[in-house]
Amino acid sequence: MLVGVPKEIKNHEYRVGLTPAAVKEFVTHGHKVMVETNAGSAIGFTDEMYTEAGASIAATAEQVFAEAEMIIKVKEPQPNECKQLRRGQTLYTYLHLAPDPVQTKLLIESGATCIAYETVTDNRGGLPLLAPMSEVAGRMSVQAGAHYLEKAHGGSGTLLGGVPGVAPGKVLVIGGGVVGTNAAKMALGLGADVTILDRSLPRLRELDDIFNGQVKTVYSTVDAIEYYSTTADLVIGAVLIPGAAAPKLLNKQHIANMKKGAVVVDVAIDQGGCFATSKATTHQDPVYIIDEVVHYCVANMPGGVARTSTMALNNATLPFGLALANKGPKQAMMEDLHLLNGLNVHEGKVTYKAVVEALGEEL
Ligand code: NAD
Repeated sequence: MLVGVPKEIKNHEYRVGLTPAAVKEFVTHGHKVMVETNAGSAIGFTDEMYTEAGASIAATAEQVFAEAEMIIKVKEPQPNECKQLRRGQTLYTYLHLAPDPVQTKLLIESGATCIAYETVTDNRGGLPLLAPMSEVAGRMSVQAGAHYLEKAHGGSGTLLGGVPGVAPGKVLVIGGGVVGTNAAKMALGLGADVTILDRSLPRLRELDDIFNGQVKTVYSTVDAIEYYSTTADLVIGAVLIPGAAAPKLLNKQHIANMKKGAVVVDVAIDQGGCFATSKATTHQDPVYIIDEVVHYCVANMPGGVARTSTMALNNATLPFGLALANKGPKQAMMEDLHLLNGLNVHEGKVTYKAVVEALGEEL
């Protein structure tokens, strides 16, 4: 199969669909890979590295879209990209169609087979192609929080790890899933005093085992959120209710009651955010201050560490991508229900229930 990797064109998106190492895997399995020139150069993956891995370099995205049988990307295709897709071609990337009728219509019109990373499932009920980005965002949330706690960046001037003779900073993680667990690991690594709230008791038991009692696990109630948020230096919002907007767990009064110079990092901002005062920000302008509390609400945190994110994403997407190329999309999806769950649009029809439910009347 001829696999095509165009350069991402969304504003400040530096990730790329395949790393040179992933290209080598496809080539080793007997496939051809065409990569648009400079597709990975911003994150250190040069055209020479792709050539060495066995890819051919295309001068334009148009050439990649025209020739490839499967397009591998990171972000949802932009209108100009959608218009270049065609029946018989497979698109394998993040799509997030439910809130996006424009893209959905264009993908329907294209007739292409469109597989969304975010709806591929695994045996444990997880979303294996979303998890790496949650790992990245979780780890990054503490890095961002520690940075903005510094006085020059608007914070209270608190060092999360403290020093001998000075107590460490307090980190409250709300939601102990993939993001929350990775945030807790980083915070613990810095020597902070960490509390995780979750409303799943089985999850709190797992966390207690994972961290061997080094973090406090507390059942998530309004009372617990009120109590722990008023003493925290850094609060990380990491909740998810699958298929729903994030619940607003800290209201305006809770934010006003926090310590002056505290930092909140609302990782759940891509689902609307879990603090009442949150509004989405960008890597160019990541924070704003309300009631002397610094808010970091970047909706695409992994984009800030595009190199690590690309490699983490490739580790997860590669096995499914190889199956699609080796067996052909139809056979690969027939043999693997988890991959089939990724199918969102096929030959002019939306095939994913939640997208139909969200957009039914608009399509
Ligand atoms: P997850 O499903 O692994 O974990 C979510 C956890 O939240 C679960 O353990 C659940 O029990 C808990 N929870 C639900 N309601 C709660 C409540 N009221 N109080 C406390 N805990 C509650 O999800 P995840 O992969 O960790 O993702 C978390 C959020 O981060 C999602 O909204 C996801 O979209 C977002 N995310 C954002 C970025 C970004 O760049 N901003 C990147 C990756 C993920």
